[in-house]
Amino acid sequence: MVVQAFIRSGGQCECVDPSCEVGHYPFQCHARFSFEQRTTSDLAGYQADHYLPYALGGSATLENCRILCVPCHKSKTARQSSILAQFSKLKR
Ligand SMILES: [Zn+2]
Ligand SMILES: [Zn+2]
Repeated sequence: MVVQAFIRSGGQCECVDPSCEVGHYPFQCHARFSFEQRTTSDLAGYQADHYLPYALGGSATLENCRILCVPCHKSKTARQSSILAQFSKLKR
């Protein structure tokens, strides 16, 4: 599934998030990954991200999978924890 997402991404970071701290907005992130290393994400420098996290009802589908470079993924993960914190407050 991750390899399928990688092929869809064309070897480029799929982050288009306006609030991404990497600062590529309004453009898509330009980080590119080596196609040969698509099955070894650590070496290629990308991470597969669940666009909508499991905790918020996301599923393990290709549509919910984003190929992100490490800085974008870090930024998203940092924001995600505050989103999750708000979400759990709302549930209470
Ligand atoms: Zn990126
Ligand atoms: Zn980004």
